[in-house]
Amino acid sequence: MTEMTAVQPDATAPGAGPMVRAEQVHKSFGPLEVLKGIDLEVRTGEVCCLLGPSGSGKSTFLRCINHLEKINAGRIWVDGEPIGYRERGGKLHEMREKEVAAQRRSIGMVFQRFNLFPHKTVLDNVTEAPVLVRREKKAAARERAAQLLERVGLGDKLGAYPGQLSGGQQQRVAIARALAMQPKLMLFDEPTSALDPELVGEVLDVMKDLARDGMTMIVVTHEIGFAREVGDSLVFMDGGVVVESGNPREVIANPRHDRTKAFLAKVL
Ligand code: ADP
Ligand code: MG
Repeated sequence: MTEMTAVQPDATAPGAGPMVRAEQVHKSFGPLEVLKGIDLEVRTGEVCCLLGPSGSGKSTFLRCINHLEKINAGRIWVDGEPIGYRERGGKLHEMREKEVAAQRRSIGMVFQRFNLFPHKTVLDNVTEAPVLVRREKKAAARERAAQLLERVGLGDKLGAYPGQLSGGQQQRVAIARALAMQPKLMLFDEPTSALDPELVGEVLDVMKDLARDGMTMIVVTHEIGFAREVGDSLVFMDGGVVVESGNPREVIANPRHDRTKAFLAKVL
């Protein structure tokens, strides 16, 4: 897949089409086919909730969107740019690792495990990447980091170390850290699954606030309430395919497929 025919110009212009478009995405690990032809479209400003049983390929799909995994077939565009490819002379050419890294910077990712730097303060955790990667001036980066931390409700924790914070607070730092890179798309992979139940709400509230602010988000979650309340779309995956998708309230109230019904019965 080093060279192929480019798509139509209207689909490649940033801002002109959906924020994310996936077409027939296939991904295998050795003999194990994990994604078996995923089609998906997420509009700018849309909150897409991705649900499905464990092992259905949700994390793999998110990782393909920011090219942490390389797909075997199909295509993914983010804001009109084919992920991992660039157009030259009417053809798509595979990007070098440096170009991929540049592309990845515009996509924020928040994982189940927050992976903060334990020996750095909260403020330094959020400031590090904008200074090192985006080459922002340190003072400006710190000021914006402080604003982001204020926004996620941690304005009084700038000097704290991750070990001094609760899981919910650490996850909010992780969200601020992702936002500091000024992403146009945020991917959340079960951001509340590792949290004690009483800490889930504070993280979901931050995500709700982001959604209201117009951030485009793909959220893998088992939080049906969040999907119903905040989601613009719900995509149910099982066995590496999209089983059904639609308006979250409609899908949750009237799932059409037995697999969706069985899954919802377990998590509701
Ligand atoms: P989900 O997030 O829906 O639980 P995953 O995308 O994590 O599902 O995993 C889907 C399948 O792919 C699982 O069977 C998992 O074991 C397998 N898988 C994921 N990553 C790898 C990998 N790097 N190597 C081999 N198998 C993997
Ligand atoms: Mg997963």
